[in-house]
Amino acid sequence: MSAKKYSFIKSILPENALNFSRRTRYVCESMIERIYPQKIILPMKQHYGVDAIPTVEPGDEVQIGQCVGAPAPGTFSVPVHSGISGKVTEIKTITLPNGVTTKAIVIESDRKRTYHPSLRPRQDLNVDASTAMGIIKSAGIVGMGGEGIPTIAKINRAKKLKVKELLVNCLQSEPYATCDLHRICDTPDYIVMGAVVVAGILGINKIRFLISSDRKLELGYLQNSIDGIKGDHPDLTFEVLHFKERFPQGHFRLIARALYSVELNENDTLEESVGAVLFNCSTLNAVWEAVADNMPFCSRIVSVSGDTTDGHNVLVPIGTPIRDVLSKMSPVFSSCRIVWGNALTGLSCTDLDTPIIKTTSAITVIKMLESPKTPCIHCGMCYDACPMDITPSICYKLIDSGLDTKAMLENAYKCIACGACSYVCPAGLDLTGTIASFAAKIKKPSKTNKELSNNSRTRFTMDKIDIGDASLLEAFAENEDGFTEDMIDEDTIVLPFEGGKYV
Ligand code: SF4
Ligand code: SF4
Repeated sequence: MSAKKYSFIKSILPENALNFSRRTRYVCESMIERIYPQKIILPMKQHYGVDAIPTVEPGDEVQIGQCVGAPAPGTFSVPVHSGISGKVTEIKTITLPNGVTTKAIVIESDRKRTYHPSLRPRQDLNVDASTAMGIIKSAGIVGMGGEGIPTIAKINRAKKLKVKELLVNCLQSEPYATCDLHRICDTPDYIVMGAVVVAGILGINKIRFLISSDRKLELGYLQNSIDGIKGDHPDLTFEVLHFKERFPQGHFRLIARALYSVELNENDTLEESVGAVLFNCSTLNAVWEAVADNMPFCSRIVSVSGDTTDGHNVLVPIGTPIRDVLSKMSPVFSSCRIVWGNALTGLSCTDLDTPIIKTTSAITVIKMLESPKTPCIHCGMCYDACPMDITPSICYKLIDSGLDTKAMLENAYKCIACGACSYVCPAGLDLTGTIASFAAKIKKPSKTNKELSNNSRTRFTMDKIDIGDASLLEAFAENEDGFTEDMIDEDTIVLPFEGGKYV
């Protein structure tokens, strides 16, 4: 185990009030609480890319693991699967707190929890690279730690760029959440094996796990799993890298700086700049669930936290309404602010029917305090908090005054929308909203969404699959004999990595 401790600069230190998530009982839950909602609302767009197309109609019966939304042919999209069994009651248009308007399939539970017959452990786990890629694609896996980039697209890109290292992000990016940490305690073998699968696909032999040195329990579980598995993979090297805990943490640009001393500009990627690719540990867990258990991505761990509760983690089907996630809590919701997501980067939400989507790592419930609104008092706290070394107070003032060129010179374009400056600002200024919007505007791509969609395509054709009738995983398994590596053209997915959230 490496003795060196890597560190992010500035940010919010864990000694302050944000240290909530390190309360012992919060992290050490021995069993995850499962929530079985009466209904789920499954948006067809939950990730970076194009909406899936519903493959079921009202009145259809569905089972756990069944595909209910197929990727639109020739687009940058992933399938959607049901996490409950029951009946489709409605397909309606909804708008999520992030502004995405999309179709959503409403499924009423039959309380039987019937699994699709295709969901059985895979007998032969020695899958080759093209088979593994097909499974990951068909399982609808997207990045669970951030913007939800389809995992197959990220793999394709890393393959094309011939990366040399796989980084496994075990750093919980925000302080109020512990869903990834819980995942490490719960199924560390799945995370390590998911990493082994992706390393195999990419043809690389170096896997490095990034974790906070303060998380002794999770470190122990992870190291035990690595020790138990590495003997079967003598061609691979496993490293556990310790990081000093600060928030936010885990963003690829912060990791590039901490690990490689490389400053990434707004259009740089880890893959191109340092030859590494970064995957969230929960995403890799989902990879092994798909490969070993034939289980598509249809449930996830969500942290329920905030300053109104001790907080806990729950395992919920994707599409579970916030109302059900909060059902075991007893806060007076009318006096709380509910955040769809994490404390620093989440979005306020008033509709309790809003569903958990593939990228929702937390629901945060915060006391509704009258936020102060005063002019900047020049305390400097935002500067101390900013991990990108920006001076938020100055950038805010320049942007607010329309002085964009000067804001550029102050590096406002480097903002990663981490939320730290707004969190600490005693004047209650919307620093993050102002600076992050400015940065997104600067990064706006020249191509239109339509052009990107047309360019962003995959040749994982679904035409042989009995859509809506069976899990896509089963259909893939039936066709995998005919599935060859050359079906995955490295150029078939154009991944709009940097440049913001424009797809
Ligand atoms: S939101 Fe942007 S400006 Fe504010 S602390 Fe984070 S990176 Fe810095
Ligand atoms: S934290 Fe708020 S009040 Fe303090 S310097 Fe920054 S903008 Fe001004």
